Amino acid sequence: MSRVFNFSPGPATLPLEVLEQVRTDLPDWHACGMSVMEISHRSKAFLAVAEQAEADLRELLGISEDYAVLFLQGGATLQFAMVPMNLSVAGQTVDYLSTGSWSKKALKEAGILREVNIVADAAASGYTDVPERSTWQYSPDAAYLHYTPNETIGGVEIHEVPDAGDVPVVADMSSTILSRPIDISRFGLIYAGAQKNIGPAGLTLVIVRRDLMERVEDSVPSILRYSTFAASGSMINTPPTFGWYIAGLVFEWLKRQGGVAKMGEVNQRKADRLYHAIDESDFYANPVAPAYRSWMNIPFTLARPELDADFLEQAVQAGLQNLKGHRSVGGMRASIYNAMPEEGVSALIDFMGEFARQHS
Ligand SMILES: *Cc1c(COP(=O)(O)O)cnc(C)c1O
Repeated sequence: MSRVFNFSPGPATLPLEVLEQVRTDLPDWHACGMSVMEISHRSKAFLAVAEQAEADLRELLGISEDYAVLFLQGGATLQFAMVPMNLSVAGQTVDYLSTGSWSKKALKEAGILREVNIVADAAASGYTDVPERSTWQYSPDAAYLHYTPNETIGGVEIHEVPDAGDVPVVADMSSTILSRPIDISRFGLIYAGAQKNIGPAGLTLVIVRRDLMERVEDSVPSILRYSTFAASGSMINTPPTFGWYIAGLVFEWLKRQGGVAKMGEVNQRKADRLYHAIDESDFYANPVAPAYRSWMNIPFTLARPELDADFLEQAVQAGLQNLKGHRSVGGMRASIYNAMPEEGVSALIDFMGEFARQHS
């Protein structure tokens, strides 16, 4: 078997231990003679998996009983619609921070249903910086404030939770959840597609303060209400059982690593080392304002863009894959989620140094 270091932004690399566990479990899971994806979601065996996954996630992130944890489908993109549908009513204004591609998509979707106020817009910086907090324009009566703590494409991360007073804060944590400790009580709702830091595509996590689920209007179909899923243990219909099971294995793996506090230390170190290598070279550059540099997705450009294709080809030879930057940004992007080991970052830094020596 040969595994590469996979820097894909998503679906992204998973811990090898988890994949090996899946392989072992697959044909005859828990000695029941079937795989986990072939059994009823309402069976005792699956319910035990589902409950353990939720308990482990609650433990990892310190989620109190004031919050419901939901295991949904539809990706983060469905949440762009479910958030305004559930947390606001017709005629209300909703506040959005616009800091890059994903927040723009979220606010565009919300704009179909509600009046959107853009609290701050990072467009002037080309989405490489975030306007000073003193300039942010909250609306006086917003139903919630939505932001994207980590812009996966631009590599812009807001490291401190915005303070919107009594207005609930909603966060799209698709590419940053479980990468460090967070204070759940600062949030009204957190959502995340699984395929970056949790497990396979097809599962979406929502952590929502229970009282906020009561805001939903009668006109919202039940399948699109958080309250429906909360009342049914996320089993109003068949949930994504295989993804839920793998997410559970990833949560167990995270606990064995020492939890999110330990992940935060490791992630910060990985990112610091890569930024340091970029900054100290004349050959590579990262455009993001230092205070907003992402720990998870690190875009960088080459001083000679005509060498991009060579860089990517030689990287593959060196066992480093999926470093091509997003088409809207160009250059390279290294996604270094929880499951990317420190050795992967070391290998990338060594390769970048060697490539720069050969071409400068
Ligand atoms: C990947 C990503 C999305 C889109 O997720 P889907 O699950 O494909 O809908 C949304 N927001 C952020 C921050 C992302 O990284």
